[in-house]
Amino acid sequence: LVRGPALFPGRSNSRGFDLTDTRTLAAIETARTAPATPAAAPQIAGPVTGSAPQPVTNPATGAAVGHVRWAMPADVDTALAAAQVWQASPAHRATVLRRAADLYEADFGPIFALLAREAGKTLPDAVGELREAVDFLRYYAAGAEALTHPPRGTFACISPWNFPLAIFTGQIAAALAAGNAVLAKPAEQTPLIAAHAVRLLHRAGVPAAALQLLPGDGRVGAALTRAPRVDGVAFTGSTDTAQAIRRAMADNLAPDTPLIAETGGLNAMIVDSTALPEQAVRDILASSFQSAGQRCSALRCLYVQDDIAPHLTKMLFGAMDELRLGDPWHLQTDTGPLIDAGAEATIRAHIETARAEGRVLKELPSPGQGHYIAPTVIAVSGIADLGREIFGPVLHLATFRAAELPQVVADIAATGYGLTFGLHSRIDGRVQAITETLPVGNIYVNRNQIGAVVGSQPFGGEGLSGTGPKAGGPDYLPRFTRAPRPAPGA
Ligand code: GLU
Repeated sequence: LVRGPALFPGRSNSRGFDLTDTRTLAAIETARTAPATPAAAPQIAGPVTGSAPQPVTNPATGAAVGHVRWAMPADVDTALAAAQVWQASPAHRATVLRRAADLYEADFGPIFALLAREAGKTLPDAVGELREAVDFLRYYAAGAEALTHPPRGTFACISPWNFPLAIFTGQIAAALAAGNAVLAKPAEQTPLIAAHAVRLLHRAGVPAAALQLLPGDGRVGAALTRAPRVDGVAFTGSTDTAQAIRRAMADNLAPDTPLIAETGGLNAMIVDSTALPEQAVRDILASSFQSAGQRCSALRCLYVQDDIAPHLTKMLFGAMDELRLGDPWHLQTDTGPLIDAGAEATIRAHIETARAEGRVLKELPSPGQGHYIAPTVIAVSGIADLGREIFGPVLHLATFRAAELPQVVADIAATGYGLTFGLHSRIDGRVQAITETLPVGNIYVNRNQIGAVVGSQPFGGEGLSGTGPKAGGPDYLPRFTRAPRPAPGA
């Protein structure tokens, strides 16, 4: 049986990688079978203390993929003292960031290997992620050339494991493009890819004192958000952590220190009876199950109009049966593992609670080993039943009658989150009315709701989902400078 390539395509501005091209595949295979991944350690402009080496494991297999030496408190102090803004013209900074983009692209084999091994990314997801990272580098390089204001000073960039290359690079590239010094704290699950990226950025010409890496857990992040030498914080991760950062900054840092946070979502999609079922099903699958649902943009709660619900769910469940779970390296894999044991346990417990209540509508068989959760659909009466972000391949399904649509929209707004929203409808007036009223950062009509493209689809939420400005948009870079803020009322 020959099946086509994995289901989920990516979008980007940068050049693609043809996963059917033999030379590309050979480079990927070479990287796959390469002996050991270089260890990660603090990359700071001074002597490194570092912990004893600890293993980093592959979420798909549990096997060690490399080692990390965590930053110790002394390393954080050294880095803070050594940090120096990037004293170079905007044009030079742009040249270096573009050179880094070229180095990232040329290094695709080892990067895909790291994304697959350390973060459990499928190959199509790894391609999308590398392209997004490259897009960020080039987009903020172009932005640097247009900046007229000086850097703020030292930025702490605290990034998540779900985009260990793209978001890690995006935050850093923005802060550097504006001329700041960066202290980068990657997620503790993904220090190897971060260390690799920092090596490429340094090789491209970013000075060692302008970009320092501090691999560590939340204690390193907490130290950075309390350090009076820090002039700004960029954070992507959970809403709870963002709120803790906000409190720490309020207690310790100058009152005008910016926090640029992109946080969680409780994202809904509405499919009304005018939607094209084939298209809606394809977009529901990608929105819910691509990247094993580990995107903050992912669809969590689907509302289907009652008169098409039986037909649509039958098609959806049938399409789910075609999804392949498995080895992220396998070109036909659609859905890889969750990031770690903790994530797996949380999602499993959520599914088991629903099962005990008789609300599991559909689930696929799980592979025996690794942190896999098979795509699952759970019945809910509405989005309020979720309560919090469920960060995995679990879709919650509710139905509504036509007369209930205004209430559905009000319930979605009432969550307080506002990251992404999807709408499948052919009624223009309805599309306009809903999209104008919902306080949501990224709204997608008659398509899937993940994979915002740098430059053309700036990404970020409202309310509990983030502070703005949106990443990959024109307002992002100025926030990293000392641009005068408009006077109130101006
Ligand atoms: N920008 C990504 C997307 O549009 C999501 C980022 C995230 O998960 O933090 O799918």
